[in-house]
Amino acid sequence: MDFSIAPEHAAIAETVRRFVERELIPLERDVIRREAERGFTDAPLIAPEAEARLAAAAKEAGLYGIDVPEEFGGQDLGLLTKAIVFEEMKRSIVPFVLPPDSPNLHLLKETCRGEQIERYMLPYARGEKKSCIAISEPGAGSDAGAIRTRAERYNGKWLLNGEKTWISNARRADFIIVLAVTDAARGTRGGMTAFLVDRDTPGLTIPTVFPMIGEYAPYSLNLENVLLGDEHILGEVGQAFVPISRRLGIRRMEIAARCLGYARRCIEMMIEQANSRSTFGAKLADRQSVQFAISDSWQELEMCRLLVHRLAWRMDQGSAGDSLEIRREGAMAKIQCTEMVTRVVDRAIQMHGGMGISKELPLEYMARAARVWRIVEGPSEVHRWLVARDLLRA
Ligand SMILES: Cc1cc2nc3c(=O)[nH]c(=O)nc-3n(C[C@H](O)[C@H](O)[C@H](O)COP(=O)(O)OP(=O)(O)OC[C@H]3O[C@@H](n4cnc5c(N)ncnc54)[C@H](O)[C@@H]3O)c2cc1C
Repeated sequence: MDFSIAPEHAAIAETVRRFVERELIPLERDVIRREAERGFTDAPLIAPEAEARLAAAAKEAGLYGIDVPEEFGGQDLGLLTKAIVFEEMKRSIVPFVLPPDSPNLHLLKETCRGEQIERYMLPYARGEKKSCIAISEPGAGSDAGAIRTRAERYNGKWLLNGEKTWISNARRADFIIVLAVTDAARGTRGGMTAFLVDRDTPGLTIPTVFPMIGEYAPYSLNLENVLLGDEHILGEVGQAFVPISRRLGIRRMEIAARCLGYARRCIEMMIEQANSRSTFGAKLADRQSVQFAISDSWQELEMCRLLVHRLAWRMDQGSAGDSLEIRREGAMAKIQCTEMVTRVVDRAIQMHGGMGISKELPLEYMARAARVWRIVEGPSEVHRWLVARDLLRA
């Protein structure tokens, strides 16, 4: 067992830290303003010209393709490195994602075949194409096995009909990974198939945006007689549930790592505030309640980081999310990190008083954005249940 940070991890963390300080933190006020002004629209929180500048700066800093295999032009540094990068990136609230977004990359890497590699995977891995994933439906969120979107054989092709909801990035995606039922009797055990659907495919519409907290603004998506050839099948017919579960596992690890970043920034801000603010003739840093808030936050952050790093390390060992152990550890990391960051942000807000809840600081944004993470990619209750189920069965 070796808990030391490898030199290559320390080096990339330092590069990302500099990128965050130089490029992201100065944009935070703009993000806060754009969120406040967005109203019921899907206006992005990073202005398009700023996003293009960030993408160029990230590329220049060598931060593209961190977990893309070398044979596809990437750096192949694995998920532990990505976890360290996610933590550093999320010291800022600016919702910039280093291309390519990891979960779909790993799904495409595992399942793309033949021409799909040139058409979807490689441009995605290079950050030239965007994608999204459409699993959730009005009647099936946590319980993805209950989806009703159908794909049926029709004249040698597939005919898709159904309704999806809460689909992030749908209007910005070049292609959408759609999960559909191909054999209702088999359900999650051989009856679900994933399809690669270009966004401009006839019959696919994205009628509604649901603006939410922070940067989140997912969409509804309708599939009405969408006709696709076999070349649009991602992976094997009927066998999508396992690779998609693995993909969800990567996002859970990422969400847990993001929580570490927010928590670290909060602790840095708490220390600064405690050392500089005086009330009733003494520094906040001299009050035991303030010391305890900082101390507890730090301890909780360190415990959570161990969970995340072990999870990412295990994923890098090859079983990438499908073993029971990894599923359970993913659930644990997501529960603990999302609940830890909720407490830490709250303490940071309390210590900053009125400023803490103003839009002068990023704390109130963090409090709201972190709330999302206890719901997306499976609510805490469902993960608690999964952990209990494994233990009780064992
Ligand atoms: C910002 C955002 C982005 C999203 N992006 C995508 C996307 O890109 N693609 C996609 O397919 N989906 C996406 N989703 C959907 C997301 O994965 C679901 O919202 C999530 O899985 C929960 O499903 P639900 O909202 O239908 O809640 P439900 O499944 O209806 O659950 C509601 C509540 O019931 C409780 N509950 C549910 N099951 C149990 C249980 N077994 N035991 C105890 N309590 C339980 C929990 O408290 C839960 O919060 C997104 C959602 C959000 C909010």
